[in-house]
Amino acid sequence: MKTKEELQREWDKASEDIMQGVTEWRAEHPRATLREIEAEIDKRLSGLRAKIIRDTANQSVSARWEAAEGKVCPECGAKLIKKGKQKRILLTKEGREIELERDYGVCVGCGVGIFPPG
Ligand SMILES: [Zn+2]
Repeated sequence: MKTKEELQREWDKASEDIMQGVTEWRAEHPRATLREIEAEIDKRLSGLRAKIIRDTANQSVSARWEAAEGKVCPECGAKLIKKGKQKRILLTKEGREIELERDYGVCVGCGVGIFPPG
């Protein structure tokens, strides 16, 4: 899992890239209308938006799983063990795909697979 500092640096970098990209785009499109400028900025921001949503969701999922360590299977009461990560694709309101990585647990008793609670 990435640290808060690593995420902060990535977000800062992504923001800077957007600002710089917009500045360059504006230089190449000096006659762009307000609508065109708005559309261009929305397009660029939606990428950062998706990244921030994904990173934030992944962070909180990991945190929930840590809190669930030591928990038992709701089916049979046996211990749960971590079983790597599973990817899950979600769509944002804007229709952008976001890939979430979730820790996945398996029961040592009945073998049922479980995502962390929450
Ligand atoms: Zn079980």
